[in-house]
Amino acid sequence: MSLNSNLSLSDLIAEHGTKVAAKTTINIQGVDIHLPVYLINGSEAGPTLVVTAGIHGGEYPCVEAATRLGQLIEPQQLKGRMIIIPSANPVAFKARSIYITPVDGLNLNRQFPGDENGTFTRAWAAWLFNNVMKQADMYIDMHGGDMIEALIPFVSYNITGNPAVDDTASAMADSYGIRAVLVKNDPGGLGGTTYAAAAQAGIPALLTEAGGQGVWRESEVDILQSGVRRVMSRFNMYESIPDPGEKAERLSGWSWLTAQEDGLFYPEVSIGDNVVAGQNLGRIADIFGETLQDVVCPASGEILFLVTSLAMNAEDPLMAIAY
Ligand SMILES: [Zn+2]
Repeated sequence: MSLNSNLSLSDLIAEHGTKVAAKTTINIQGVDIHLPVYLINGSEAGPTLVVTAGIHGGEYPCVEAATRLGQLIEPQQLKGRMIIIPSANPVAFKARSIYITPVDGLNLNRQFPGDENGTFTRAWAAWLFNNVMKQADMYIDMHGGDMIEALIPFVSYNITGNPAVDDTASAMADSYGIRAVLVKNDPGGLGGTTYAAAAQAGIPALLTEAGGQGVWRESEVDILQSGVRRVMSRFNMYESIPDPGEKAERLSGWSWLTAQEDGLFYPEVSIGDNVVAGQNLGRIADIFGETLQDVVCPASGEILFLVTSLAMNAEDPLMAIAY
């Protein structure tokens, strides 16, 4: 939080009051990653906000929202500093890959804080965590449904037990303008996600999700982009936008349902539906129509995300219910 100091990442440097938009090349285990970066070094002192998008290569509204923020935010009006990575997993983005990075088949958002000596995706997670996330006073990781998922917009943060971290994350969630706020209070079950690893390292962090199914719409881009602007305004980093968005509503947990069999998936609910425990939510059948798995609702709540692909693989997620 020092005035007049440079903001840097890899070989890129933004001097006080300037913006840099460029790619930097990082070699991870023989693979050149051409990482797009916005460094925005404000004219006045303030916190450093890090925004990442595209951790999953097939989630497009967040990528578009992040690059627009990079173009929009001007250092002359910024109090503090901003690092925006609009496509944080360029290998998966180029491959149009669902869930995983093709080099080693791992889900990047299960590997944080990463391992420099691990396989490609674990080593990439470590590079991002040590060089990008650790610069943050506040961190926002934008996602959406993957190419085979629909979801209602939601934000999430982890309770860490550190009041300074938790209170800031809570304020970020409150100001983002998305109704569904999932508060995760499971210190043992961090699961290697970006925002859980950041929170564990003492960085207030928010996961935000909008859009899905391999498309991007202006409405979803706007939800994600406006939310970041609202957080910036809440922490006096940038001028406010007139629309406050939706009022936050806390959800205290979620259940993920997974497939037990390979087959064809026939959901009987839609995202946003309110469901009750014991309700039939759909089934998996074989190619001849024989039912292999009845999907029964484990807890009353709201359908947060739903896999919309007919093809289903054992152990893949089917949907999540938030309550
Ligand atoms: Zn994602």
